[in-house]
Amino acid sequence: MKKNQYDCSKCPGYCCTYDHIEVSQYDIKRLAKHLNVTPEVAEKRYTKVDEGKVVLRHHADESFTSACIFFNSEHRRCSVYEARPHPCRTYPYGTKCGYFEFLKFEREHQGDDEYVATTR
Ligand code: SF4
Ligand code: SF4
Repeated sequence: MKKNQYDCSKCPGYCCTYDHIEVSQYDIKRLAKHLNVTPEVAEKRYTKVDEGKVVLRHHADESFTSACIFFNSEHRRCSVYEARPHPCRTYPYGTKCGYFEFLKFEREHQGDDEYVATTR
């Protein structure tokens, strides 16, 4: 198996700032169990309907305009990692992450390993 060429622990979490992360009823049930609430409460509290699809809600984020409601903006990581929805488990679908490639390029260019490049 090929090794991943990205390191989420060194990334500010670009993928979690995407504003249309669709979730299934199964995803909602898994989140509800993890958060100890009913699926109905989880759906109402953490999701919204956008263009006819059930997607994760967002909150304001200091580095980007907004991020997923479960994104811990201070530690730049998912607060429900074990129960994250299916799309979050499969992204970036291969051994490379386009966002991480962009980040690596920008950090090399700036000569700063901590640089948080914005995509806007
Ligand atoms: S954008 Fe890529 S490297 Fe960054 S957290 Fe998401 S999957 Fe990991
Ligand atoms: S559930 Fe977690 S991994 Fe998925 S977008 Fe939200 S913060 Fe990121």
